[in-house]
Formats: sequence, C-alpha cells, structure tokens
Amino acid sequence: MNTVLDIKGLQVAYGKVEALRGLDLTVRENEIVALLGNNGAGKSTSVSAVSGLVRPRAGTVTAFGEDITRATPWSIVERGIVHVPEGRRIFSRLTVHENLQLGGYTVRDSTSIDKRIDQVYALFPRMAERRDQQGGTLSGGEQQMLAIGRAMVAGPRLIMLDEPSMGLAPLIVAQVMDAIVSINRAGTAVLLIEQNARAALKVAHRGCVMESGRVSVTGSAAELRADPQVVEAYLGA
Ligand code: ATP
Repeated sequence: MNTVLDIKGLQVAYGKVEALRGLDLTVRENEIVALLGNNGAGKSTSVSAVSGLVRPRAGTVTAFGEDITRATPWSIVERGIVHVPEGRRIFSRLTVHENLQLGGYTVRDSTSIDKRIDQVYALFPRMAERRDQQGGTLSGGEQQMLAIGRAMVAGPRLIMLDEPSMGLAPLIVAQVMDAIVSINRAGTAVLLIEQNARAALKVAHRGCVMESGRVSVTGSAAELRADPQVVEAYLGA
C-alpha cells in the first residue's frame, strides 16, 4: 500500500511547552488511522503541524512522497490534505449550501465543486433537506456533518478529523462514524483524532496512542482493543 502521510521525528513547541517530542506516524492509502490519547497528549498539534498551521522545530512531514514540512496551509489543501478542526467552525450565518461551496475554495473547476456538493448531499441526505437553512440553526450532529461535508468538497485524498464525536449523543456519533467509513470506502484515507477510543477503534484499521507528544502504542485496531493497557486507560472496563 502506498504511503499517504509519513511523519518522522516531529517536534513542536509553544514557547516552553513541548507539545510534540519526536512524533512518528504513517497513514497509508485506504486506511483509517485512529489517533488516541488523553487531553494534552499532542493530537491536535499533530494534525495542525501536518496542515501547516503550526511550524515544527524539527522533523519532517511527507505527503504522497513530497516533503510538505514547510509548505503553506493553502498548498497543503491543494495537495489533497484537509483538516476538520475541533469544534466544527462552520459559518453560522451562511446557509448549508454556501458553507459547502466554501469548501471548494482551492478548487478551480466549478463543475467539480457542484459534483462534490451533490456527493455530500447523497452522503448526508439531512444536508440536502436543509440546504437553504443557516448553519447556526443546525443541531450539533448536523453541524459536524456539514463540517465534514465541506472538507469533502475540496476533494481530499486524506481527511484529518479532530474529535468529530465531541459533544454528540451516541446515536449521532454512530452516524458520523458510518459517514467516515463511507468516505474511506470511496477512496479517502482518514486520520481520526478521538477521545472516544471505543467508537474510533470500531471503524479504524489501525490505531496510535499518543502520550506526552509521541506515539506510545501502535497496532491494528483489533490489537489495541485487546491490549490490557489500552483497555484500562482508554476503553474502560
Ligand atoms: P486536546 O484533546 O485537549 O486538544 P491534544 O492531545 O489534542 O489534547 P494538544 O492540543 O495538541 O493536545 O496540546 C498538546 C500540548 O500543547 C498541551 O500541553 C497543550 O496545553 C499545549 N498547547 C496546545 N496549544 C497551545 C497553544 N496554542 N499555546 C500554548 N500551548 C499549547
């Protein structure tokens, strides 16, 4: 399998706080990789470093065989890597349809934007029903679907989702996870940050647990589900 994303020895600091201390992580084509770990372990910083929002001190980020460690956020999106940040950040005064159109800001060809918006409506029929409604009037789960849908309009080859299940009821979490599986089956690799390790390891192929800025445990989702330390720390009894 080809490597989509390859992070090696990544170090990021915010002033004196060392958020990443030598992170190694790979995502291969057609994979869903769950990135797990407690608050402050460095998960959000990892994806922000990949998308060019924070600058690493050391280490490299390679995407599709090219070094993107110092590339601009814009050019990283253009290469097919899209980040859905924690907290959704949709435009509450714009309609669902307008929010989706904005997802195509790096896409030059407007017919492909329209085609991808149609694909989002097929994936999330709820969004089609609400296409003229303002984003801010949607429920939490619908806003998460809109944030994911908007990212899909950029035509990503890798989508990085930061805590998509946050604050959602279990039934809605399951719907969001089903959508992630559909997106992956249609050919997009997924890096899935989750506090909800149980939900993430149900859909992921592999998982990486982060502790203090690096990966402490990695394995297939089945291996992690059976690892006594992972069970105790992240999956509960
Ligand atoms: P969470 O789930 O809480 O977001 P996380 O695993 O994603 O946790 P990060 O948000 O990447 O962890 O944070 C890693 C470390 O960097 C933490 O110690 C955090 O306090 C610190 N940190 C994150 N962002 C900043 C910032 N903008 N300025 C200073 N310190 C930061």
